[in-house]
Amino acid sequence: MDRRSFLALGAKAAAGILLAQTVPAPVLASSRPRAEKGFKNLAFYHTHTRECLDITYARNGVHDPKALHQINKYLRDFRTSEVHPIDPDILDILWQIQQDIGCDSTYEIISGYRSPQTNQKLRGRSGGVAKRSLHMKGQALDIRLTGKNTKLVRDCAVALEKGGVGYYAASDFVHIDTGRFRVW
Ligand SMILES: [Zn+2]
Repeated sequence: MDRRSFLALGAKAAAGILLAQTVPAPVLASSRPRAEKGFKNLAFYHTHTRECLDITYARNGVHDPKALHQINKYLRDFRTSEVHPIDPDILDILWQIQQDIGCDSTYEIISGYRSPQTNQKLRGRSGGVAKRSLHMKGQALDIRLTGKNTKLVRDCAVALEKGGVGYYAASDFVHIDTGRFRVW
């Protein structure tokens, strides 16, 4: 390659970087190989069980029943080991937040499914636990995103206007659910 074409290539590369920096995050994220193939992937770390799960839960807009089954087990009530179906819409919310931030960091799980028994127990201990918590319907998760500001995760979730978003600064997590849109 002569110097002229080398420089031209360099300029192109520089333009590419510039473009990458100025396009909105969702466009950037969708250029990732996995997203191009229509795969939706999520990585989890459970703060109580210390279990990890890295899983492709949807392909070309279709949820994978086997993967959902695995996720249901993973997000079980770890205190009682009860398993309950997790609303796939909440996975799509988590995935969308990552696209908007432009990252594929691990979601730390603070709370997944809660049996009525566990919810009742937690209510006795903390004022922040709702009587008809959507955790009992598999429609809520308490999460943070490794290495990302939890406020940013909260802001992205609120911008989606897809369900409930509760920010718990002291414990550094966001409650996300697939109920009606509300913010606290
Ligand atoms: Zn919660």
